[in-house]
Amino acid sequence: MLKLEPEMIIEKTANPIKVGVLGFGGLGQAAARILAPKGEMTLVAAADHQGYAYDATGLNIDAAISTYGDRNSLGYLANCGTLSNNSIQDLIRNAKVDCYFLALPNLPNTFMADVAKQFIKSGWQGVLVDALKRTSAVEQLLELQSDLQQAGITYLTGCGATPGLLTAAAAVAAQSYAEIHSVKITFGVGIANWEAYRATIREDIAHMPGYDVETARAMSDEEVARLLDKTNGIISLENMEHADDIMLELAGICDRDRVTVGGVVDTRNPKKPLSTNVKITGRTFEGKISTHTFTLGDETSMAANVCGPAFGYLKAGMALNRRGITGLFTAAEIMPQFVR
Ligand code: NAD
Repeated sequence: MLKLEPEMIIEKTANPIKVGVLGFGGLGQAAARILAPKGEMTLVAAADHQGYAYDATGLNIDAAISTYGDRNSLGYLANCGTLSNNSIQDLIRNAKVDCYFLALPNLPNTFMADVAKQFIKSGWQGVLVDALKRTSAVEQLLELQSDLQQAGITYLTGCGATPGLLTAAAAVAAQSYAEIHSVKITFGVGIANWEAYRATIREDIAHMPGYDVETARAMSDEEVARLLDKTNGIISLENMEHADDIMLELAGICDRDRVTVGGVVDTRNPKKPLSTNVKITGRTFEGKISTHTFTLGDETSMAANVCGPAFGYLKAGMALNRRGITGLFTAAEIMPQFVR
């Protein structure tokens, strides 16, 4: 586990942003660790499938992670845990939270849009950020645009790594060109074991030939393990349905059919099987064809590249919300802000 050196801990600002994390699996726990040393944000709430924890002064992150590891739910966390079959709804009702990172599985493919509707219905106001992946999932949120706006919610979607960091990098890189010919995202993910990121891996399996979201969702853990045994732990994907395409189209950069996403996930080795990169090819005003390439450092993990940007977008979302700007935005439209 990451040990915090004293110089990594920044003193809390006078009124740190009160953050909640929904979903406390691989990404939710990494998100909690990332927030621990931050001065501008405090993790006050987190929820999983069976319960939630809330402490207005800030959760004890080590205790939260070890309780979840031992008992599979934050509901057992001493002094601030509550078991619940309706953890999201109960948390929204009982906690005072400025913004939430939704580190939830999007299984079924309508789940995140349903969670957004729950927030709208509850009367809660604030900022939501997700790390959604599928184009069709982002399309469902687009339908909630005016409801979110009227509810006083600033919702930033597709704010992980891809979509997210790489899509935003493509939007910046595109500025050198008069016309964008292609955006090609290739990701390499290495994780030590698939159980640390069950939803991520199930959602990746859903892109494999012969599978879809429903078949992947219905697979037992044993079935997933058997499939990964057959592939030696490797999942290779190409031409995925990934929302980077609709996000770049909405941002006016290029038509969605010019955006392609694929990659390789090694579920048995934390070393990346290849370097994650995005290549943006276009024509300059002088008529030259060129390609910008943005490559992530191989040492950076999936968790670092998803949760870091998610909080950068939460901070940007808070700035918008405080200026009365609400509704739906994507990671390709807004610049993330660095959280200290
Ligand atoms: P995980 O399986 O490790 O954890 C999921 C968590 O959600 C668990 O704590 C579970 O208890 C909780 N949960 C499930 N249903 C719930 C409910 N109804 N109410 C409350 N909590 C509930 O998940 P993960 O691997 O961390 O992935 C989370 C999401 O992040 C996935 O949808 C994945 O696709 C996405 N992701 C995005 C990117 C990106 O770059 N955009 C990269 C990786 C993962």
